[in-house]
Amino acid sequence: MDPLKIGIVGCGGRMGRMNLATIAASEGCVIGGGSDLPGSPAIGQDLGLLSGADPVGIMVGDDPVELFAAVDAVIDFTTPAATRRHAELAAQAEVVYVAGTTGLDSETQAMIEKAAIQTVVVQAANMSLGVNLLEMVVEQVARALDPDYDIEVLEMHHRHKVDAPSGTALMLGEAAAKGRGLALDSVARKAREGQVGARPRGEIGFATLRGGDVAGEHSVIFATEGEQIVLTHKASSREVFAKGAVKAALWGRGKPAGLYSMRDVLGI
Ligand code: NAD
Repeated sequence: MDPLKIGIVGCGGRMGRMNLATIAASEGCVIGGGSDLPGSPAIGQDLGLLSGADPVGIMVGDDPVELFAAVDAVIDFTTPAATRRHAELAAQAEVVYVAGTTGLDSETQAMIEKAAIQTVVVQAANMSLGVNLLEMVVEQVARALDPDYDIEVLEMHHRHKVDAPSGTALMLGEAAAKGRGLALDSVARKAREGQVGARPRGEIGFATLRGGDVAGEHSVIFATEGEQIVLTHKASSREVFAKGAVKAALWGRGKPAGLYSMRDVLGI
């Protein structure tokens, strides 16, 4: 079988560069192209050099239509606005679309779901094996404990992150709410400030820390009178997300159109 040609949108970004390097180091796939926002300093650079490796002779473009037409799969870690456009193009070109951008509004999420009618879409707020395992464990622990255990989700990310709470924190909050048979929106407290009063029973709280170069740290705390259970995942490198994204692109080849999760990809 020919190697899977993977395109990277937002290839000049932190995750974009890591995805390029991971494709170059993976079996069964090759860098098929890359695009970034018009005016980005990445435009015109060689994709291999951009990832810190040898040149591959393919330059970063600013036309996503051209990119989607030239590849078998696209990995997208960009912005919600860019994701809207990319989801539409993925459906038109019928390429495997790996959607990793977080902080999506409901309209963008609906466009991803619409694209999944036409093509294979793998979407996850966190592509690492560890966090996807943690999600399962959190759901089980929340199911086993009664609401006398207060659930809090604490996260820390690097200073450049623009959305809060992180997509992963929300994903873990969803898992905890699901374990309790509830919708997260009905019990979530996404931030606290001032005279907020005592903590309501059953609430799922979130706390956000930002600083330095932290790739992503998440803890789910189950606290009651006399004890706490703390479940923590720490990513020390973005490589874990990129490895998951490349695995998702390879897994998606030949699958029927549909919206898949990393748990589908990882078989967990
Ligand atoms: P970043 O700002 O370093 O990179 C984003 C890139 O997208 C930039 O190069 C930017 O120029 C580019 N871009 C913006 N608009 C574009 C457009 N219209 N067309 C093409 N390129 C465009 O950000 P980052 O740290 O790489 O994170 C990107 C996203 O991925 C964030 O939403 C982040 O939360 C998410 N993320 C998800 C996971 C996961 O596992 N799902 C892991 C890490 C980060």
